[in-house]
Parts: sequence; C-alpha cells; structure tokens
Amino acid sequence: MHKFITGIIFLFTALSLSAQTPSKPDPDELSGEYGRYRANNDLIYYHLDIRVDPDKKHIGGKTTIRFKMLSDDNRIQLELTQALKVDKIVMGAAELKYQRDKRAVFVDFPSMLKAGKTYDIDFFYSGNPPETGRFGGITFKKDPAGRHWVNTACEGPGASVWWPNKDQWRDEVESMRISVAVPNNLTDVSNGKFAGKTDLGDGYTRWDWDVHYPINNYNVSLNIGAYQHFSDKYGDLPLDYYVLPENVEKAKKQFSQAPGMHKAFEHYFGEYPFKKDGYKLIEAPYSGMEHQSAVTYGNRWANGYLERDWTGVGISTKFDFIIIHESGHEWFGNAVSAADTSDMWIHEGWTTYLECLYVEFHYGKADGLKYTNAYKSKVQNKLPIIAQRGVDATPPQDQYFKGALFLNTLRSVIDDDKKWFSLIRGFYQKHKYRNIMTEDMVAYFNRESGRNLTPVFDQYLRHPALPVLELKFDTPGSVSYRWQANEKAFNMPVKVGSSGSWQTIQPTGEWQTMKTGLSKDQFEVATDLYYIEVKKNN
Ligand SMILES: [Zn+2]
Repeated sequence: MHKFITGIIFLFTALSLSAQTPSKPDPDELSGEYGRYRANNDLIYYHLDIRVDPDKKHIGGKTTIRFKMLSDDNRIQLELTQALKVDKIVMGAAELKYQRDKRAVFVDFPSMLKAGKTYDIDFFYSGNPPETGRFGGITFKKDPAGRHWVNTACEGPGASVWWPNKDQWRDEVESMRISVAVPNNLTDVSNGKFAGKTDLGDGYTRWDWDVHYPINNYNVSLNIGAYQHFSDKYGDLPLDYYVLPENVEKAKKQFSQAPGMHKAFEHYFGEYPFKKDGYKLIEAPYSGMEHQSAVTYGNRWANGYLERDWTGVGISTKFDFIIIHESGHEWFGNAVSAADTSDMWIHEGWTTYLECLYVEFHYGKADGLKYTNAYKSKVQNKLPIIAQRGVDATPPQDQYFKGALFLNTLRSVIDDDKKWFSLIRGFYQKHKYRNIMTEDMVAYFNRESGRNLTPVFDQYLRHPALPVLELKFDTPGSVSYRWQANEKAFNMPVKVGSSGSWQTIQPTGEWQTMKTGLSKDQFEVATDLYYIEVKKNN
C-alpha cells in the first residue's frame, strides 16, 4: 500500500504525522489484541454476498463465515463498523444473540461449540458506510464522465469499515467467494477468478469471483464501474485489465510493463503466487493498492510516481512505480504476510526492496544500488520500524525506505550474492501463504546463514538510531574503530579503505586498531552497501 502519498503536500503532512503519532497504541484494544474470542477459532472460508446501490450509497447482504473451533467455547469475536447495522446473525435456522462493543461484535451461541468442529454462520448487515481512512475505506464516486465508480481500499481502517469479518491479520480464510450485485450497466471486479455473472432480473447483475488462496481481509475489494476489459498473457498466466473506456489505449501502453514486472520477481522469488486466480490491474480513483490478484491502479498512465521522479535520481522515471510496487506486494504482503500490524515492514520494507531488485534486474546492479540509496533522503530514524504489538499500531514510514535499506545492508553482511539470492528466495518459498512475525525471519536467516544476525536485525528494526561507525586517526599509519549502537552485541562487518579494494573489518563495541596507509580524508567506508553513520575523529 502507499499510505503516505497523494502529491507532495500530502507527503509532508504524512511525514509530520508519522513523526508524532504512528506508534501510538490504538485505544480500542479490542481491534489490536488477539484475544480469547479470536484465538478460540480458525477461519476457513468466507462468502461475501452483497448488493451495492450506488445511487443510494448503500450496501447490504451477508458474509457467510466458516470457522473451526480450536477450543470449546460459546462466543466468538467478529467486527463491523458501528456505522453499519447488524440485521441478524444466524446459524442454520437459529438466530444468534450478539453484543456490540465499538466495532467488535461478540456472537453468542446457545450451546457450546466443540474444539475441532467446523461451523457456518451468516452475518447479515446493511447501511450507508461513511468514507474513512486515507483512501476512503469505501468510496461512492463518479468517474470523469459522470458514471458511478465505487471502490474499496481499507488497509488502514480495516475491512470491517464495509463488511463483517474477523478483522485482524493473524488468521486468514483458506479461500473465499465474493458475490456482488450491481446495476446492470456496471461491472464489479473483485479478487480471484471470474466465476460468472447472473442477471437477477431486477435491474441488477451479480458478479461472482472465486479466491483460491488465503487472503487478508483488507485485500478483499470491490471495484464497481463502467469498466472495459482487455487481456494479455505472461506465459500461461492470464493478465486481465479493467479500465474506464476512455483510457483503454493509454492502459494498453502502460500495462505492457506488467510482464517485465512478473519476469523480475519470478526470477528472484519464484512464480506469481496466485496463479489460479490470475493477475489483474484495475483502474481506481486513488494512486493504487495491492489488492490480491486485483491490483488497483491510479498512477495517471505515466512513469514515476504521480508524474514525479519518486527517488530523484533519474531511475524512477524508467518505470511505473505503482505497477511495480503494488504488484510486488503479491509476493510480500499477500503471499508472505505479517501476523500483526506492528510488523508491517514485512509487507512494505520487503516490497520497497523488491523495487530495488526490479531496477537491478532490468537496469543493472549499479542503478539498483543508486535507486536503493536514494531512499536515504526519505528516512527519519525517529521511531523503530517495528511498532508495539497487539494494539493495531501503525509503524512509521521508515518501514518502507529504511526497511529496504536494511535488506540491502543485510545483503552486504552476507557478502555473497549467490548465497543472498538463494536465502531470500528460500525465505519467500518457505513462508508464502503464511502469516509470520519478524522473529520467524530472524530465525530463518540465522539458521540458513549459520550466523547470529539477531543483533543486526534488532538494531535496524527495534531502535530508531542507525549504528555509528566511530573511526579514530590519532596514531599515524593506523585507524581505530568501534560500533556505537543500542544493541550491545552489535558486531556487523563493514567494508572500509578505498572503493575497488575494500577491506572487511568486524568492529564491536570495543576499540580495535588496524594498519592503514590512508589518511583520515582518504579512508572511506562503503556507505552505499551498509546503511550506517560514520564519525571520523582525530
Ligand atoms: Zn506498499
């Protein structure tokens, strides 16, 4: 997702906001904590079956929720915004009692549900959902030609701003059906594979979509508009494109970048993870969002980001930022997902790093490095990348840029590209279709590299400050060096001396000395390979 941006003014607003508030715990702990009535069950399947009336800005219908009980209990916790009405919740013929507390809906069962058994309930709801969050949550807009255009983008506020579900990150359904009835002249494009449309005979047509993979709630999306469809193929992967009729020619040109995106990410990580659902790009009235197998696009049919050179070094203008970034999330964010919002850098830091790999793949290693390091200008180093766990916290923007710069640093720590690429591919393959935490990543990299990288991960992710390499030139012919870092065991190797003939040293918190024929001014540190601060003292 790109939460931070819609033009330069919004960027500054977002930056200043993020400096003040991002780690603030959500006072509504019900939405952050994975409490008893969430942990007692495991989601299996949703069928979201709704009707959308764009004239009345009204939505209504039901979610069928299939779940397996993990312990005996007679209550579960679901969510729906208070702005929408619960019509009824039923299990078979029996109407269930429920209690609302903020957006939580506690559903009570007349008898004990049994561990290991699977149950289905139907949660009926209706109302006029208000716009909320940066991209609106759900918006009822008109396209430039005055036709209805209804879209959802709800990662920030949570999917329960427009449909009832178990609104958290840890637990995903294994598959899903999305059925959306819309006025006959409009098309709904949702996630998954198109499963047909049915004329309901009352001026509405129902569009059915089948999702064959686990999916985050916030990825579930509606795109209702006067869409025109065209398609392409990448190997045997269908590429389906839905845009407003006026933009078909522009889209044909711009979306021709999608195969090159697939080629790069497939090269590094393996094939597109949602093959049975196909890959879609869908025009939307906001910049873009990584909705699984249904990536939305609003980047003005131009390279760069909203017609700007996003990283400012002449490379961003070579490709469409939204196509590359949002599609990169199919690998990181959608296939490999974080289990708590605190660790959202698994989505954003990795996907920003995927941009850097895209540049390396298509334009070479030097441009990849240049693009990566250009992100330094956007880093603040004011708050840790990993936010407080279990409180629905939003990590600061450093999760994007510093996250990517950290992964580039880790590559230099591994210092063997063949090994690095095998490590990141293995990491992706082992964790795809799973919800993980940073600890899982650290354990994987420690195990597979045979090294203790924990202090390096912790310094970059759990502290705001960069590690500082202190250099002392007080004796001719030698230099003393040590790390200044919050992690006492921080001992990251680093390349120093002169570029072209780097020498790798392994500083610790204690002073060490090495011989050098270089003067204080001549002595360099490979700061494009390691994101660190350097202090040279006499
Ligand atoms: Zn993103």
